[in-house]
Amino acid sequence: MTTSGTDNKQPFMTETIFSKIIRREIPADIVYEDNLCLAFRDVNPQAPVHVLVIPKEPVAKLSDAESNHHALMGHLLLTVKRVAEQLELKNGYRVVINCGEDGGQTVNHLHLHILAGRSLGWPPG
Ligand code: 5GP
Repeated sequence: MTTSGTDNKQPFMTETIFSKIIRREIPADIVYEDNLCLAFRDVNPQAPVHVLVIPKEPVAKLSDAESNHHALMGHLLLTVKRVAEQLELKNGYRVVINCGEDGGQTVNHLHLHILAGRSLGWPPG
């Protein structure tokens, strides 16, 4: 879904590769789906397990989230927990949200990274 940037209350949102994955226009290794969100394996994994959880609603980035997204944000986090249980990430995992340019965000559709399967370093680069 594409929205315009003409309304100040509506953050500018362009079509992204993730919109195409939601619509099944390009393939993805989907591990979970419900009416609000989708989880699929990252095409360029940074750990043995690397899954992205995205809302179906096209929120571009975390800083664009509004109070009406309260329930959706909670749902995304609980979906991370659900996917982690489904994938049996018993040794733990990391959840990352890159926001904006300095945050390292490259796809302008909000996404939560789930990283697991190895001991992860801290702090990130
Ligand atoms: P960001 O850098 O925005 O936080 O993360 C974007 C992520 O999306 C990257 O880890 C990148 O590998 C992943 N990605 C980009 N394009 C595709 C794609 O077409 N399919 C999948 N499955 N992942 C993608």
